[in-house]
Amino acid sequence: MKVPEIFGENVFNLQVMQEKLPKEVFKSLKKTIDEGRALDPTIAGVVANAMKDWAVEKGATHYTHWFQPMTGITAEKHDSFISPTKDGKVIMEFSGKELVIGESDASSFPNGGVRATFEARGYTAWDPTSFAFIKDGTLCIPTAFLSYGGEVLDKKTPLLKSMAVLNEQALRILRLFGNKTVRHVHTTVGAEQEYFLIDRKMYDARKDLVFSGRTLFGAKPPKGQELEDHYFGPIKLRVSAFMRDLDVELWKLGILAKTKHNEVAPSQHELAPIFTVTNVASDQNQLMMETMKKVASRHGLYCLLHEKPFAGVNGSGKHNNWSMSTDTGLNLLDPGSTPAENGQFMLFLTAVIKAVDEYPDLLRLSVASAGNDHRLGGNEAPPAIVSIFVGEELGEIIDSLVRGVQYKGRKKGVMKLGVDTFPELPKDTTDRNRTSPFAFTGNKFEFRMLGSTFSIAGPNIMINTIVADSLRQFADELEGAKDFNAALHDLVARELKAHKRIIFNGNNYAPEWAEEAEKRGLPNLRTCADALPHFADKKNIELFERNKVFTEREVRSRMEIMLENYSKVLTIEALTMVEMAKKDIYPAVNEYLSELCSAAQSKEQMGGNTKSDRELIQKLSADNEAMYFAAGEIEKLLVDAKEAVGAEASARFFADKVIPAMQRLRAYADEMELNTAKKYWPFPTYGDILFSVS
Ligand code: ADP
Ligand code: MG
Repeated sequence: MKVPEIFGENVFNLQVMQEKLPKEVFKSLKKTIDEGRALDPTIAGVVANAMKDWAVEKGATHYTHWFQPMTGITAEKHDSFISPTKDGKVIMEFSGKELVIGESDASSFPNGGVRATFEARGYTAWDPTSFAFIKDGTLCIPTAFLSYGGEVLDKKTPLLKSMAVLNEQALRILRLFGNKTVRHVHTTVGAEQEYFLIDRKMYDARKDLVFSGRTLFGAKPPKGQELEDHYFGPIKLRVSAFMRDLDVELWKLGILAKTKHNEVAPSQHELAPIFTVTNVASDQNQLMMETMKKVASRHGLYCLLHEKPFAGVNGSGKHNNWSMSTDTGLNLLDPGSTPAENGQFMLFLTAVIKAVDEYPDLLRLSVASAGNDHRLGGNEAPPAIVSIFVGEELGEIIDSLVRGVQYKGRKKGVMKLGVDTFPELPKDTTDRNRTSPFAFTGNKFEFRMLGSTFSIAGPNIMINTIVADSLRQFADELEGAKDFNAALHDLVARELKAHKRIIFNGNNYAPEWAEEAEKRGLPNLRTCADALPHFADKKNIELFERNKVFTEREVRSRMEIMLENYSKVLTIEALTMVEMAKKDIYPAVNEYLSELCSAAQSKEQMGGNTKSDRELIQKLSADNEAMYFAAGEIEKLLVDAKEAVGAEASARFFADKVIPAMQRLRAYADEMELNTAKKYWPFPTYGDILFSVS
C-alpha cells in the first residue's frame, strides 16, 4: 500500500481544490481558509459544483452538513444530490446555497432553554477552514450550527470565536516584539485518544455496556493491570489488524494518525495523530472516534470510548496537547535562543500561567461529566485540582525572575528578560510528570484531564479564551510602555509572582497535594455537581462576554445542558442497574440457591457434610435480599429526584443521594458474583471481557 497515495483521498483538500477550481476561485477560497473568514458568496456556486462533481466521481450520492450540537457527538442529515428533469429522469445537483447554508430543525437538539421548541428553525453554515470529506457515500460539509436568532447551538462556533480572539490578542503581542510579517496566529492541538477494544459478543451480552457505555457491575478479576504487562506490550493479532485498518481509514480522511500502542489496562489502547489547527483537530477527533467504532465492528470487536468502562481498572482519557503557532511556522511556546525570543516566549508562557490560575474552575468544568468523575482524583488521572507543571529548569528560571535573584545557569548578575539569553532549556525532560493536569512539555502544554469520549471543542474554547484574555491585558499594558524591555521584565516578574501558586511540580496523586492546594487557595471541585455551577460565576460570564465567545444566555444554557446531561446519564445508569439486578441477577442467584439447597438436602440424606452449603446459602440469600431492597431504594430515589427544582439541584441530588445508592447496590451484586457458580451468572465477567480479544 502506498500511504502518500491514499492519504486524504476522501478529502476535498487544497490539492483537489486547485485541480478542480478555476484559478481565481481557488485563490479566493484559499485566502478565506488562510484568514479564517467567511466564504465569498459569489464563488459558492462554483465551489459547490466542483465539490459535487468530485464527490459523485468517488461514488457519493448524498451530502450532509456535518455539525457538532451540544450532545458531544456529531449530527448529520443526508440529502441526495438528485434533482428531477422534465423527461422524468434525474441529474446530480448541488448549489452554492446548499453548500453555504443548511436548514435544520433545531428543536430536538439540546439547547438549554435558549430556544423554545416551537421556534424550530436553525441553520448550519460551512466552516471553510475545515475540509469537506466523503464518508460512506456521503459528502460531509463541516459546519457550524446556529439558531435564527443568532444564538450558538453547537461546539464549533464558540471554538472558532475563541480562536479568533486569541489570534487578535496574540498578534498585538507579536507586533510589540517588532514582528510585522505574521498575519495569523492559530492554536494547534494534538489529541491523544485512549480506548478499549473488546469482543463484540461480550458487549452484546452486557446491557450496562449497551445502555450506558460502561459496566455497572463486575467484581475485580484475578488478573487486572497489576503486572504492568500491557503498556507498550506486543499488540495482539486481532488488535493489530484492527489498528491497521483504522489507520488506513483515517489516512483516507486526511487524518494524520501517527502513534499506536497498548495502554496500561488489559484491552486498552491509544492512538495519537500529529497535531493540527484546533478546529480541524476537533473535527478530526470526532471523526476518529466514529471511525474507531465503525472499523471495530468490521472486526467483530466493540470499541469502548467511555472514560471509565471498568471499575478498578484504569479508565480512558484524552490528552489535549495545545500550543499557538504563527502562519510563518513559529511555535509561540518554543523557547528561543535569542534574548528577544526568550522574552517573547516568557510572555506567552506567563499568559498561560496567569490564565490557568485565574480560571482553573473553567478548565475543570470543561472536562466535567458523570463518566470523568470516576477518573479525576482516582490515582489514574490527574486530580480535580488544576495546577501547572513546568519542570525543574523552567521552574528555577521562573523562581529567579520572581525573586529577582541570580539564576544558577548564569555566571553572575540578575537575568533581564528581553536583554539576556536563557541557558538552553532541555526540550524533552524525561520526567514528564504524568500526574499533572496541565503540563508544559517543552514547546506545548498537555491538558490531561479530558475523558476519552469528550469533544475537545469545550476544553479548547476555555484554553483559548482565558489565554487570549491574559494576552489582552498584557498588550494593553505594554502598548503604552516607554521602555518596552523594562516593562516586559516587570510585567512578567509581577504576574509570575502573583500566579506562581498554580505551579506544582510534585506528585499530583499524593494526598498531601490536596491539603497543600487548599492552603494555596486552589479549588478542588470533585464532582460535576460541584464544578458545573461555576460556569455562570460573574467573573466567568464577564470573561466570555469581554472576549465575545459566549453571551450570558449562552453560558447559562450550556451550563444547564451539562448539568442536565449529568442527571440524565445517572438516571440511565441507575435504571439499568435496577433492571439488571431485578431481572438478571436476582433470579440467577435464586436459581443457584435452589440448586444449592437441593444438593444440601440430598447430601444430608446421604449423611454428607453440608456446613459449606449452609454457609454459602446463608451468604448468598442475604446478599440477594439486600440487593433486591437496594434496587428498591434506587427506584424510590429516582422518584424523589423529580422533586428537585432546577438542573443544579437535580445534579446535586444525583451526586449526593443516587450515586451512593448505586454503589451500595453494586457492592452486593459484585460480592455475589464471586460466590455464584459460573454457569448461573447472567453475563460475562470482567475476566471474560477484558481478556476477550486474542
Ligand atoms: P506523549 O505525550 O505521549 O509523550 P508526544 O510528545 O509525542 O506524546 O506528543 C503528543 C502529541 O502532541 C502528538 O499528537 C503531537 O503531534 C502533539 N504536539 C506536538 N507538538 C505540538 C504543538 N506544537 N501543538 C500541539 N500539539 C503538538
Ligand atoms: Mg501524552
